[in-house]
Amino acid sequence: MNAFHRHIRRMISLLAGVSALSLLSSSAFADPVIHHHTRLEAQRETSAGAGSVVKKTTDPVMNTQNSVTTQDKAALPQLPDITVETPVLPGEIRTIVIDPGHGGTNAGAIGVARIHEKYLTLQVALIVADRLRAKMPDVNIVLTRQRDEALSLTERIQMANQIQADLFVSLHFNSSTNPEAIGYESFWAGDFWAADMEKNGETIDDQTRETRTKTAKLGERMAKCFNHAMHRRFDVLDRGVKPGDYTVLTRAAVPSVVLELAFLSHAKEGIGVVSQSVRSKLADAVVDAIVKYGNVDYIP
Ligand SMILES: [Zn+2]
Repeated sequence: MNAFHRHIRRMISLLAGVSALSLLSSSAFADPVIHHHTRLEAQRETSAGAGSVVKKTTDPVMNTQNSVTTQDKAALPQLPDITVETPVLPGEIRTIVIDPGHGGTNAGAIGVARIHEKYLTLQVALIVADRLRAKMPDVNIVLTRQRDEALSLTERIQMANQIQADLFVSLHFNSSTNPEAIGYESFWAGDFWAADMEKNGETIDDQTRETRTKTAKLGERMAKCFNHAMHRRFDVLDRGVKPGDYTVLTRAAVPSVVLELAFLSHAKEGIGVVSQSVRSKLADAVVDAIVKYGNVDYIP
């Protein structure tokens, strides 16, 4: 939880206990969330001799209209403006799509253990799905594939879009020509969704921009939850949370992430994934991340 969220939560608990009017008329409780715009208006009216004109202000914390007099306002000390952003939090989660990367003729990477990525992603995905079903019996857990079959990237994300999933999680293993490359990383859509729409000649209106930005940000939240969950379990390099230009992210109408669990090309990591206990621990991190993602009190 960062300072901003702590502040907002404190304000909510304060406002819950103290009536808005007594809060505003008491110099002990200054309202730090008054819009700059409102304060300027109040000053203008006071200097014009408007006296105690009742002004309506919208409280961004409570999202309610409060009656405030300019006299009350004038008594308040000047405080620095705080940019109030609505924290992006997931709503109620009903459906989660788990996507085991690759499959069929698309085998993915092959690492030092000579096992194709497509088998490893499926094995981890099956454990993740089982554990999620046990932990969240009311949530619908959908796998894009349950066997070794080829699916296009578009088909995978379309599946999530069509059933209006609340989260799409694509599982992958990394590979590099650099044998030293190690660790986990995660990707979310960033602004790449916009570039993809422009490339396809689609227009981006304000509504679309707002919705897609919010959706992408939720993907970023999930990506952060994953990196934190991995950090708690594995003593390897955290390669970061990054925007990625991948079809399952750019074409996603739902919060979407690509998770790279480990490097198959690394001598230690690539052999490690052969072990059932390592795959179980990786699955555990993914499950933990999804549970935390859905917990609105958790700030990754
Ligand atoms: Zn992959």
